[in-house]
Amino acid sequence: MFHSRARGSASKGSAVYPGSFDPITNGHLDIIRRARELFGSVTIAVSNNSVKNPSFSLNERQSLIIRSLRERRLTQGVRVEVFDGLLTDYMRRRGASVVIRGLRFISDFESELQMALMNRRLNPAMDTVYLMPDEKHIYLSSSLVKEIARLGKNPKAFAPACVAKALMTL
Ligand code: ADP
Repeated sequence: MFHSRARGSASKGSAVYPGSFDPITNGHLDIIRRARELFGSVTIAVSNNSVKNPSFSLNERQSLIIRSLRERRLTQGVRVEVFDGLLTDYMRRRGASVVIRGLRFISDFESELQMALMNRRLNPAMDTVYLMPDEKHIYLSSSLVKEIARLGKNPKAFAPACVAKALMTL
């Protein structure tokens, strides 16, 4: 979708940032910016199967990401794709070896370590790189932002305007 030539990639293929993005928040955008800076380009891979009852459909989540990237002028070197099934298979199909994940609290660490090690077992060519967001985003999650909107407050301080608007009309 959005793609420009990598400025110099530190790895084989583009770095892949997978997640449910239900919806994208300022925390995700912070990680995308950092990953692009490190790897030259980044592919956001929206998972079709990571959440049981998503608030937004796969198409809506993808479209909100694209609109958010435009809003924040972050389209250069950033591609958005959706995937089904195992991340390890998707990485293999793309010939990519680096997975990006965000790390907020120590509580993220346990499940992330487990997932990274299982992924590496399933696809030994793969490694996971963890990036920490700016501390002003550290307490943000898609579910908390949704909860704020559900309780009647516009969450525009925590997500791009297009996302805040979509949440207020859910
Ligand atoms: P998943 O269901 O795969 O965890 P999410 O969309 O919730 O999907 O998260 C995708 C990735 O983004 C995860 O690595 C998560 O830790 C990271 N992330 C989410 N919110 C933030 C944030 N506020 N700061 C940094 N990383 C974040």
